[in-house]
Amino acid sequence: MSKEDEYFAAFCHLIYKVGVTCDIVSRSEAQGIVIAAGSGNKEAAELCRAVSFAVGRVEKRPAKCACCQRMVSDPAVIVILFPANRAPGMSVGLALCERCGDQKGLVGRTQDCVKALFPGMMALPQPTHEGGRA
Ligand SMILES: [Zn+2]
Repeated sequence: MSKEDEYFAAFCHLIYKVGVTCDIVSRSEAQGIVIAAGSGNKEAAELCRAVSFAVGRVEKRPAKCACCQRMVSDPAVIVILFPANRAPGMSVGLALCERCGDQKGLVGRTQDCVKALFPGMMALPQPTHEGGRA
């Protein structure tokens, strides 16, 4: 098992236990998060870490859109999944392509992605923050 697989397994174990929540971050918002993180906002710092990790990974190696499975190298939206108890350092980022990252119906599509990724998940995430409507 690679380090990444181990991390993902630990993440799955945790969210099946405590539930999952998410932040939906558009590309244009990422900068604001970096600024907030710099000013000492702890939640922003955690989100910033997760977003830059997800964006960095996609830039290195194009990922599949979590919705339609199309390859994306420049995601329109990054969805960061957190355990509902916000355990520090635990998050998983999903990249969405331009078509799927469209604001209309975005929350529903995000929930569909979570359903597909984590079958049997009872409580679907209600975003704590939704891109573009800060
Ligand atoms: Zn897509």
